[in-house]
Amino acid sequence: MEKVESKINVDFLSKHLGVELKTTNEMDLDITGNQQIPVVPILFPKTTEEVAKIAAFCNENEIPLVTVGGATNLNGGTVPDKAGIALSLKKMDRINYIDPFNRIAQVECGCNTLKFIKEVEKNGLLFPQNIASADRSTIGGNLAISSGSPRSLFYGTTKNYALNLEVVLPDGRIINTAYDVTKLATGLNLTQLMIGSEGTIGIITKATFKLIVPKKHRIVSQFTFNTESELFDAFKMLFVKGFDPVSVEFMDSQGVTFVKSYLKDSGKISHSLGGILWMEWEANKERELEDLEQEIHQVFGNSASNINFARSQEELAEIWKYRQSIGYAVKAVSSFTDVDVVVPRSKVQDLYSTVKSICQKQEVRFSSFAHIGDGNLHINILKDALSESDWNERIDLIFKEIYQRAIDLGGAISGEHGVGAYQQKHLKDFFPKVNMQLNQSIKDLFDPKGILNPGVMFNKTNKTI
Ligand SMILES: Cc1cc2nc3c(=O)[nH]c(=O)nc-3n(C[C@H](O)[C@H](O)[C@H](O)COP(=O)(O)OP(=O)(O)OC[C@H]3O[C@@H](n4cnc5c(N)ncnc54)[C@H](O)[C@@H]3O)c2cc1C
Repeated sequence: MEKVESKINVDFLSKHLGVELKTTNEMDLDITGNQQIPVVPILFPKTTEEVAKIAAFCNENEIPLVTVGGATNLNGGTVPDKAGIALSLKKMDRINYIDPFNRIAQVECGCNTLKFIKEVEKNGLLFPQNIASADRSTIGGNLAISSGSPRSLFYGTTKNYALNLEVVLPDGRIINTAYDVTKLATGLNLTQLMIGSEGTIGIITKATFKLIVPKKHRIVSQFTFNTESELFDAFKMLFVKGFDPVSVEFMDSQGVTFVKSYLKDSGKISHSLGGILWMEWEANKERELEDLEQEIHQVFGNSASNINFARSQEELAEIWKYRQSIGYAVKAVSSFTDVDVVVPRSKVQDLYSTVKSICQKQEVRFSSFAHIGDGNLHINILKDALSESDWNERIDLIFKEIYQRAIDLGGAISGEHGVGAYQQKHLKDFFPKVNMQLNQSIKDLFDPKGILNPGVMFNKTNKTI
């Protein structure tokens, strides 16, 4: 990694800007074992104005600037190809207001996701973005990546709740992308342009979100299957028969094996060759869920080998433990890399079969868990004992083949983890050329000197496409 620290007079910067400044020598590692934060000075601004001063300084001096939230991204988004200054929003974590009358809330973007969700809940409302990294990620990171959650099937993703963002542009100007209103027909949609921009066109400092009223009752069902085809048949039936789950999550048999061993579970979940489906259901009347439970047994009783329901907090936690442990369970076996493809849900089975044959051909192990209701498949490919060169060679081929299949099936290379630095090189093959040109023009418009997150989502070669 190229360092440009010679341009940065840290003491001057700290004094001049009046901002606490740290230099880190520690690499924060993500769950896959990849590096997440470059070794650079990290600034901790406390206000939007301080962020603006830092951006203006970096822009003027052409110093690369990377914004860091919780650093939980799985795409190298906080590891740009040129290290300069890193900006952490951790000290900007205030919840400015939660307004039950308008059903909106305004929050600073360094706020921890779970903290925000819980504060909203205390006000009797719901921000339904319980992403699996909620305890470590930030609101700003969720917006920048356009994160999703298991409940996105029913409730949509973070982008569906953002009404208005305060953004610091690379030259230090501060804008609001919209207004704190739930309806708007004035101007282009700058809010949605910022969401998923991965810190490449602006630093999001504050967000106003729409909130909703939670349903009163919730249950989770767990189906285990003897065969894969039974699982996918039931998955199809769920939708064509008109069921309306809040989430549908999947774990394949290899994933189950890893989690069983990680949790030292010798018996709770039987050895299920076909994998597991979890579904979350909500209703305002308990009776509706009781009726649903009966209907589920009638419709799926023959295809699933086992159906369980969780109602109490303890049961819910117990049943979700499997789903939530998968990342750590795989990590306990081997370092791995993560593919995050999305296809129409009717094509998931096809994609999964292709992944199996690709990994068999390359002689690597994989496990998959997924927000299958959204057609979003996470595939963890294990390095095991492969040498670095062997691994790099194989993984490149595997990514290319999986991406090609996802595109052929009408999907895209990322459903929720974003492009970042790791998948940037694949855009030229798997993202339409004109779309890439338009993306690049927008990047150049907002960030003509290219100081924000260099190497993330964009690189110099894109300019010449
Ligand atoms: C165990 C685990 C579980 C996960 N589960 C999910 C899941 O369920 N759903 C999901 O979608 N993802 C998931 N992820 C991926 C990741 O947690 C999400 O993408 C999350 O939204 C990233 O938030 P963060 O604050 O950690 O962002 P970071 O990792 O710090 O940053 C992500 C990107 O956004 C940029 N950025 C950060 N803050 C800002 C800002 N304020 N303004 C502009 N740019 C900014 C960064 O420069 C970087 O490019 C998971 C990751 C892990 C490790």
